[in-house]
Amino acid sequence: MAVSVDDVFSQITARGLRVTRQRRAVVAAVADSSVCLSPLEVFEAARRDCPDLGLTTVYRTLELLGEIGALRRVHGADGCERLVPAGSTHGHAVVCDSCGRVTEFTECDMGDVVRAATRETGYRITGHFLQLSGLCVDCAAQGDGGARTPAARPDGRWNEKGSR
Ligand SMILES: [Zn+2]
Ligand SMILES: [Zn+2]
Repeated sequence: MAVSVDDVFSQITARGLRVTRQRRAVVAAVADSSVCLSPLEVFEAARRDCPDLGLTTVYRTLELLGEIGALRRVHGADGCERLVPAGSTHGHAVVCDSCGRVTEFTECDMGDVVRAATRETGYRITGHFLQLSGLCVDCAAQGDGGARTPAARPDGRWNEKGSR
């Protein structure tokens, strides 16, 4: 799951913004990541390319990338918000509790849930946020690996699009 850096740059330009050295470094730091990153981790990684980068610029750029749809926000195992490149507009993340690896899946059968929620609340439901957690194939193969949520164990299917 990775985003095309060129696509992101053209989307930034399309918004009338410049692809500065700073923005370029932030995009490069997150585009190929297969694990979810905190804004601070993005900052550390991007600063290697761009030593004069400021944390505020990192936050603003991440915000921008979120608006473009290039990043998906996920909740890490520690409960903190992390970021991961978004491979598709409608996709959801499975986060590995053990190593933090994130794999995207697109198939979600929300029909029954949406109908039930509509019945119960009267809302016109227009979207949903879904995230699953478990153990990635590698961590699950390492025996127990600290499996705390047997019900959410990957069944292999969620990870078939996984890449490193
Ligand atoms: Zn893992
Ligand atoms: Zn969905």
